[in-house]
Amino acid sequence: MALLLHDTLAREKRPFGPPDHPIKMYTCGPTVYDRVHIGNLRAFLFYDLLRRSLEWLGYEVRHVMNLTDVDDKTIRGARREGVPLREFTERYTRTFLDDCDALRILRPHVMPRATDAIPEMIALTERLLATGVAYRSDDGSVYFKIAAFPGYGKLSHLEARTLQAGAGGRVAQDEYDKESAHDFALWKAWSEDDGDVAWDAPFGRGRPGWHLECSALAFKHLGEALDVHAGGVDLVFPHHENEIAQSEAASGCTFARFWLHNEHLLVGGQKMSKSLKNFYTLGDLVTLGQATPREVRYALIAAHYRSPSNLAVTYEGEGEARRPVRFDSLVDARGALKRLDAFRRDLRARATSPAAPDGAHERLARARTAFHDAIEDDLNVPRALAALFELVADVNRLGAWDVEFAAAVEAFWDDADRVLGVLAPEADALSPEEQALFERWQAARAAKDWAGADAVKAELTARGVTVQARKDGATWTRG
Ligand SMILES: [Zn+2]
Repeated sequence: MALLLHDTLAREKRPFGPPDHPIKMYTCGPTVYDRVHIGNLRAFLFYDLLRRSLEWLGYEVRHVMNLTDVDDKTIRGARREGVPLREFTERYTRTFLDDCDALRILRPHVMPRATDAIPEMIALTERLLATGVAYRSDDGSVYFKIAAFPGYGKLSHLEARTLQAGAGGRVAQDEYDKESAHDFALWKAWSEDDGDVAWDAPFGRGRPGWHLECSALAFKHLGEALDVHAGGVDLVFPHHENEIAQSEAASGCTFARFWLHNEHLLVGGQKMSKSLKNFYTLGDLVTLGQATPREVRYALIAAHYRSPSNLAVTYEGEGEARRPVRFDSLVDARGALKRLDAFRRDLRARATSPAAPDGAHERLARARTAFHDAIEDDLNVPRALAALFELVADVNRLGAWDVEFAAAVEAFWDDADRVLGVLAPEADALSPEEQALFERWQAARAAKDWAGADAVKAELTARGVTVQARKDGATWTRG
């Protein structure tokens, strides 16, 4: 089999193609105006799963994710607190990265801030003005004329009549819904609400619109033709539709070969909202649910990324008095991880037999194949996890085995964890930085760069991580 991914544009699973070139992967990052909630985190976990799966399957990946640090919401927040925009957005960038680290989300290779690429956004706006798909309005803002781009609506499959109804209108806000397919702002002329947030441009003083940001940053860091662009399903319209329009009208080529979207997360069977009191951050789940970030990761990746997932919660009381009494999905995650941990821990202790029982290696091979096929089939994590649990049941029935079989199962476990990032127990997990060092150490050894390997090893030792090369692969221990 080969990797199949569901492309939102084609509305079907398509072969992703062989790993014959570095993959340009762009994902929409957070708007850093508040703590991210767990619905947002589901998207970031999905990006992580996508990146890890591609790398595990042998692709070389360059992952770029923007930080939206200038838009309607960030400006409003900074103004409310009376602090400079950068100071305000840096605070939430830090809390966002802390959450990602706790959830073992690998850091993208590049995380550009929107405000660091204003010249590129101005240049892209000029390019669009020059091609005639953009125009300057009376107030000095620049809009994209959707009627001038024939492909508008192809990603979200907008009905032609919706488009016609919207034609001629304009929308300045960054976010709006499907009922209003309007010309959208590429560049917003300065208004009083913007305070001191403005840049000079040949077409007037102002600031970029949110949609423009992603096209300009993708062009800057990955070029004009991406392999894969991903985001939450709520970004399909208008954000991604607008990204396609701007990018393709400017470049003349297909913006992304694949468009991937993850579904919503429900909490307690309902859409998250502050009024329903089911709106949580990672910190809330750790405190209220007494869960570890590892358990949260498990609970959020266990459903297929394209299925709406529900974080089950039992509530007590109504209205204002409503409060959670049990986070059922987190309790389930804890149980599942306990079972997997016990299995992994006892593999060596139960290696008391001089040989593996009949059929043991075949069962392991079956689990490997099932896991691999599941990931290649549009990143089917539920099936991949089922393959692990089946192996646990199969092997437990064997009773005892030899050391060689135990090592083979451990090797499979560690390999599967390169995709899942959830099997290593909490206290033992490497931080993303340590993981990167561990991988550099292995790469240096593989390249016979002994001096380089020793230097990286010393860095790991200084962090309390001891590494060891073994016949069946490298290992690490803490302490
Ligand atoms: Zn975006």
